[in-house]
Amino acid sequence: MTVIRSAKQMALVARRLRAQGKAIGVVPTMGALHEGHASLIRAAAVRNDVVIVTIFVNPLQFGPSEDFARYPRPFTRDLRVARAAGAAIIFSPDAHELYPEGFQTTIDVGALARRWEGQRRSGHFRGVATVVTLLFELTQPTHAYFGQKDYQQARVIQQLVRDLHLPLTVHVLPTVREPNGLAMSSRNAYLSAQERAQAAVLYQALTLARARIRAGERRAQPLLASMRRLIRRAPQTRIDYLAIVDAVTLEPVSRLRRRMAILLAVRVGPTRLIDNLLVDVS
Ligand code: AMP
Repeated sequence: MTVIRSAKQMALVARRLRAQGKAIGVVPTMGALHEGHASLIRAAAVRNDVVIVTIFVNPLQFGPSEDFARYPRPFTRDLRVARAAGAAIIFSPDAHELYPEGFQTTIDVGALARRWEGQRRSGHFRGVATVVTLLFELTQPTHAYFGQKDYQQARVIQQLVRDLHLPLTVHVLPTVREPNGLAMSSRNAYLSAQERAQAAVLYQALTLARARIRAGERRAQPLLASMRRLIRRAPQTRIDYLAIVDAVTLEPVSRLRRRMAILLAVRVGPTRLIDNLLVDVS
């Protein structure tokens, strides 16, 4: 496995691989790799000749009061996880490699990026879309892999790839969870044992809604109310948003039909967690 730090070097290597006809699978991450990331890397290794994992804590997608400075950066451990899962190249540039002095071009993805996370985290998706575009340009993927865990992010990237006619396929893979249902996340490291146990209500609320939908409920309001009640039973939680939305547009619905996404963002103690579930309504 090779570690590349320079943007120029990464571009050179990727173009050489593509000239040789290699399929390149790219998995963009911010490091602190866990089993969720590993599942993406393994999936990339199955269908590509070369897997590039990018590790970059992107300052552009963090708000001024967010956790950029204390975001975990266990680089040596990340190398082990990535190698074991099948990565051939780690691209881990410094911020000034991606955003040199005078950098000013950003990518703005429109309506999809404005709701939910975009509304609460101003500029977040501009940061995500910009870095992902840069990383795609430098790594030349034929296939790129994202987690359903960050569902709105995955939709934003699908839209970006479509709008910019980028010649690659985006794969969105299922959320990997802890045994208690908690979605794996690098930010789970911030949780105390007690908070971690309480955080299980997020997935419980999602599966409760899914069960009620399967039993025939089609009205969003009662579903949201029962989720809210369940989450509030855990004393250290504070709901940021709960929503039932069209899985493509992410617009909220009052009656469920076709493919729905149930989205939530909840603070558990000081830590903000997001999760979601997709449900097909026949
Ligand atoms: P991050 O390092 O948190 O920016 O995540 C990098 C990629 O891994 C994103 O596409 C995430 O959606 C994905 N990811 C994060 N957590 C999980 C998980 N629990 N299961 C599957 N994919 C995940």
